[in-house]
Amino acid sequence: MMAKGKLRVVEVFDSVQGEGELMGLPHTFVRLAGCNLKCRWCDTKFALDAPGVETSVDEVVSKVNCGYVCVTGGEPLLQDVYDLCRGLFLRGKKVTVETNCTVRDERLDEFVFLYSVSPKLSSSGEGYDEGVLESYLNLDNVQVKFVVCDDDDFLEVVSVVEKYKAFVRGKVVLQPDGMCSMPEYQKRLGWLCGKVMGCEVLVDCDVRVLLQLHKVIWGNKRGV
Ligand code: SF4
Repeated sequence: MMAKGKLRVVEVFDSVQGEGELMGLPHTFVRLAGCNLKCRWCDTKFALDAPGVETSVDEVVSKVNCGYVCVTGGEPLLQDVYDLCRGLFLRGKKVTVETNCTVRDERLDEFVFLYSVSPKLSSSGEGYDEGVLESYLNLDNVQVKFVVCDDDDFLEVVSVVEKYKAFVRGKVVLQPDGMCSMPEYQKRLGWLCGKVMGCEVLVDCDVRVLLQLHKVIWGNKRGV
């Protein structure tokens, strides 16, 4: 069992945020070990079964250099990140928590600048919890990020946006799967833009297609 006040940490590093509405802003990334899912296209497999290094919250906080901090994984909410988020908030940091939409910890709401919620669609081989998604959608500081790989994924996104259209305007970001060559990535982005522009519901709800900046710059390299 892990000692109280400790987290299992895979890596802490500084880089620009590569995706979502804070794209391009310098961040410190805190990647925690472990995940409860095994998505087919996961780009952080090294964090899934990794034990991580037991690290005190104070030590993690001392490694944070940027004003924006992204707490990510794996699935970071499998660990108790209350003290980490509170500590960062009290130091004036803007904290993003990335989560796969299977876990919710409402105690964090007062400290979190942005929840980046990523429900998994069919092509992932996994899924998400609708009750958890609804709970996040009640908040203003939420972006909902879907990785869309094929037509089935796209139809799922349309039905989610349709169902929650009163809550999701401007909050939904779509990305293609980035585990591919650059020409293929460009093709996938073009395909996704075309699909969105042809869909009235997504256009009405200000759904965005975004690339992953770090993939364009560094490919699938780790820790950047
Ligand atoms: S939820 Fe995220 S970290 Fe976990 S397997 Fe899926 S993509 Fe990977």
